[in-house]
This record gives sequence, C-alpha cells and structure tokens, in this order.
Amino acid sequence: MSEETKHQSVVRRTPFPRSATWPLVSPIVPTAVFVARDADHMNSVYEGREQGFTYGREGSPNAELLAAKIASLEGAEFGLITSSGMSAVAAILLGLLNAGDHILAGNQLYGRTMRLVTQELPRLGFATDVVDATDVAAVERAIRPNTRLLLVEVVSNPLLRIPDIVALAALARSRSLLLVVDNTFPTPLTFRPLALGASIVFHSVTKMLAGHSDVTLGAICASRELTTPIREAIVTWGLNGSPFDCWLAERGMHTLELRVARGTANAAALADFLARQPAVRRVFYPGRMDHPDHAVARRLFGEQFGNMVTFELAGGRETVNRFMQALQSIPFAPTLGDVSTMISHPAVTSHRGLTAAARDALGIHEGTIRVSVGVEAFSLLEDEFRAALSEVSTSSAASTGG
Ligand SMILES: *Cc1c(COP(=O)(O)O)cnc(C)c1O
Repeated sequence: MSEETKHQSVVRRTPFPRSATWPLVSPIVPTAVFVARDADHMNSVYEGREQGFTYGREGSPNAELLAAKIASLEGAEFGLITSSGMSAVAAILLGLLNAGDHILAGNQLYGRTMRLVTQELPRLGFATDVVDATDVAAVERAIRPNTRLLLVEVVSNPLLRIPDIVALAALARSRSLLLVVDNTFPTPLTFRPLALGASIVFHSVTKMLAGHSDVTLGAICASRELTTPIREAIVTWGLNGSPFDCWLAERGMHTLELRVARGTANAAALADFLARQPAVRRVFYPGRMDHPDHAVARRLFGEQFGNMVTFELAGGRETVNRFMQALQSIPFAPTLGDVSTMISHPAVTSHRGLTAAARDALGIHEGTIRVSVGVEAFSLLEDEFRAALSEVSTSSAASTGG
C-alpha cells in the first residue's frame, strides 16, 4: 500500500474489536445508520423476518433497551422512547387521532401540555376542552359524540391534585375513549395506571426516571396494538430520542428505586415540617390529611405519596425572592425529579402563560413554591429550610413593625 492510500484508508471505518467476553455496561451506539450485507438482508430486516436496526430515526439499541426497561416497570406490552415528554404526548395524539376528533383534558396539566391542548391542537383542526379531572361527573358531562381521548396527569402541577384514575378508566371504557395518563410525578414504582384500566401511559423521562437533570427524553407504554401507530408517528415526524440520552437515562434508572424511596420519605417529613412554620400559609402534600385528594391518593398509592411538596409562603413576590436568596444551596430551577432538592415558582415558570386571575382561580399564588425533594439527609434539608424561613419571617416582622 502506498503512503497515500494508507492515509486515504483512514477515512474508512476500522473494524470494532471482537471480544469473547462482553461489556457489563450497555455500549452507547450513536450510529445514525446500520449496515446490511445486501439488499435481501436489509429487506428481511425491514419485513421483520430478521431482528435488526436500520436507520437511527427508526430505532436504536439504546432507545429499545430503555423502552423495554420502562415498559416492564409499567407492566406494559410495549414501550417507545421519544425526544422529550412533550414529544411523547405529541406522538400519541399524532399517531391515534384525526382532525375533527375531540380531546378532553384535565385543567391542571403541565404548562406546555396545556398549551398543546388549548392552542396547538385547535389550530390543527382538533376540538379540545379542559375540565377538572378530579370531578368525574364534570368529565362525563364534557364528553361529546366525537370525543376520542381523555388526557390526564396522575398528580397535577403544582398543587398535586389527584384524579380518581380508577373511576376515569371505568368512564373511558364505558364511552369507548382512550384514557391517556401522564405518570411522570409518581413514576411506575409508586403507581401503574395500565393495571387500573388506563389505555396509554407516558412519561417525561427527563424528570425522576433519568433523575440527574442531564437528559431530555420521553417514554410511552401501551399495548402493541396502540403503540404500532404511535411508533409510525415517532418515525415519520422525527420524534425519536438520542442514543446518548437513552444511555444516560438507563444509567440513572439503576438507582430509581433508592431515589424514589428516599425522596418520598424526605418529602413526607418536609411537608410536616413546613406545616408547623409560621411563615408558611399552606402546605400541599397528598400524604397529609389536609390535602383535598388524600383519600384518593391513599387508595391509589398506598403509603407512597411521592417526592413533590408544594407550599405557600405568607407574602408576595418580594418575600419569595428573599426566601430564594436565603436558601444556601437549594437552587431555584424549574424542573423536578433531580437527585438533589430544588424549588420552582409556578407563577414565573410553568404557569406564567396564565393571567394572575386565572392562576388565583386554580389556587396558584405569588407565594406558591414547589419543592422537588431529593435524596439528601433530611437534617440538611430541614436546616436549610428553617434558616431561609426564619430570614423571611424576621424581615417581614421588621417591615411590618417599621
Ligand atoms: C416536564 C413534564 C412534561 C414535559 O416533559 P419534557 O421532557 O420537558 O418535554 C410533561 N408532563 C409533566 C408532568 C412534566 O413534569
């Protein structure tokens, strides 16, 4: 081989080293395409006679592995991975509905899902209505002859309202609607909607499942029959997730059970601690007797009430700012499900699209703060919240006095 052809051959792929053993850790397979021997070989993969991958957008080993892991937790026949939680809900709607169909959705959905339902879908020729999903009679009254699908979240944001999924599943079945459930907050370790009659479950894997705020992905779990057209939508509209993100999410999920258990125990303790503080006007935690959906939560979740706590500071934006500044190492970051505790402010983040009056009507005020509780030692959390709250009470006492 001449020097020149040797240099030229660098451009070609070098064969991957063979090994009689295999890696413990899943390899990341970032390839955008797979190679077949010949046309017949590729054809037999496309026709499903041989198991294999073809092109990145049509599926990847890392996505398939992650989907199977989540589907097994949800007790689902099949799972799919998408590029985000939002593309998961988009894929479900794009795969299953036709223009003119009516979609009925909960009125306390994740902000962007609400925007999709109330602004994007009508623009595309779908009819939509939102309704209080915790009021089953109201949901039933809102069903129209062309209603195809009911979309709800198991635990709403930020007030942690919990619709009776069992009653909604019975209603959906009796009216031949698909019940689509966003199970992001509880995770399948706390709640498995398919076992109780939901048709489709989806997740923002970005949150608790991946768990480290370094991934943006979604997941969909359902029967093979329902996931087949949804998979077509993912491939056609290009909603697939990246192999590297799938790999990170798989890695994060190894500790899911530990994170859920510790976050849940910490959240229950933090809710009780906050309820005793004079600077706190109100605490929302499904595990507490004073939560409006406590009975439903107990029936659905047993003793596992999740890692999310919301509370209302006595005071407005200024008090909130002072509280955030006084928290030493708990960041104000509008996400949830991280390994470490963080707070969010719905009026400025998830619910900024609503008018103040609309937020007030939902029960979301300037003082409302949402806490995604992590796995720290509880004493660390308690000390930091106590210090920040005392800062707020001291200065508000001072300003009231002065
Ligand atoms: C974050 C979130 C979504 C959207 O997920 P992304 O991964 O951010 O697209 C949907 N539903 C709920 C409940 C969420 O918390």
